[in-house]
Amino acid sequence: MKLILIFSALIGASLCLETFVGHQVLRIKTKNEEEVKQLQLLESLEHLELDFWINPSATAVPVDVRIPAVSVQSVKAFLESQGIEYSILIEDLQDVLDKEKQDMAESAQRQRSGSFDFGAYHTLDDINSELDHLVSEYSFVEKIQIGESYEKRPLYVLKFSTGGSNRPAIWLDAGIHSREWVTQASALWIANKIASDYGTDASITSLLDKMDLFLLPVANPDGFVYTHTSNRMWRKTRSKIPGSICVGVDPNRNWDAGFGEAGASGNSCSETYHGPYPNSEPEVKSIVDFVKSHGNIKAFVSIHSYSQLLLYPYGYTETPVPDQQELHEVSAKAVAALSSLYGTKYKYGSIITTIYRASGGTIDWTYNQGIKYSFTFELRDTGRYGFLLPAKQIVPTAEETWLALKVIMEHTRDNMY
Ligand SMILES: [Zn+2]
Repeated sequence: MKLILIFSALIGASLCLETFVGHQVLRIKTKNEEEVKQLQLLESLEHLELDFWINPSATAVPVDVRIPAVSVQSVKAFLESQGIEYSILIEDLQDVLDKEKQDMAESAQRQRSGSFDFGAYHTLDDINSELDHLVSEYSFVEKIQIGESYEKRPLYVLKFSTGGSNRPAIWLDAGIHSREWVTQASALWIANKIASDYGTDASITSLLDKMDLFLLPVANPDGFVYTHTSNRMWRKTRSKIPGSICVGVDPNRNWDAGFGEAGASGNSCSETYHGPYPNSEPEVKSIVDFVKSHGNIKAFVSIHSYSQLLLYPYGYTETPVPDQQELHEVSAKAVAALSSLYGTKYKYGSIITTIYRASGGTIDWTYNQGIKYSFTFELRDTGRYGFLLPAKQIVPTAEETWLALKVIMEHTRDNMY
């Protein structure tokens, strides 16, 4: 009874900014299939309210999980009783969040007099103003709206085009999982880099002389606003599905590629809920419609965090893609370029062999549409901060990612016919 009261108090508190006092993030290293199964069992116990940052799937990948204060002791006791190894990644999540908030306030203070601070996290309004600023600075940059979110926020895409009509194109998106803040921030840095390098950098100039580039920096604006106003750890969309108790769908399980198969959840309260049917989320449907109506997209790159991975299809099946060898070679080159700057180590490979089975994912669908160069990045870090990467790492993350992106874009430019 007492527990129910505590829970209702917590739910009441979530109407304003949710706090994460006493929440811990554990890293769990499983030694065998049996231990993976134990963790999957733990995951199914909804009253514990566990938030798996990396799902239990195979013994090769460690599992990261956020545990609410009330569940920390019982989860640790369970792991110890089963002899499952774990370590504490984050001692108290709220401490990290307070630091992030303080950094944002300081950056806003500095910015009042100057230009956009690419080394800081921003609100959706600030990001949208910066998109307008880029459009006003560069004549070949245009802002287009490809649709709107469930809560009717516009989905803005920057189009970089130096001429021609319906040129072959490269697509980039970030932030489809709203809590992955380094992705939206990196996308902004990258947008500015593309714009300012045209005419000075030979590679980008020759690319934009042949191809168009589309960049969607905030693919899930409802979720993103919610991470600022209510719950920093929000991942999904904010749609309300009739008959569902919980809000939101995982927009990276909602695509029409192996939809609803293993590697997604049918439970609306799960972080990997696939939604009622493919493309049910307007954020997903808008991209699908855009890709189909454009008809000439040659590369599609979807940016996530964290884990430091460069991934290609498939996620929903173990059957290798016909272009596996080429995609693997491009990935190797891209990752080498990325590492050359700060030594950041990336792993690469197909989704299913490198992390875990995931169905209904973005790039499985784009690949099946004939977009051969379909990739997903999982940016920094490997779990020290997870989704709460300190702002001072934004620019270095964007810089190194840019080197990998260039490899992918140049390869696309030179091999697209
Ligand atoms: Zn993600």
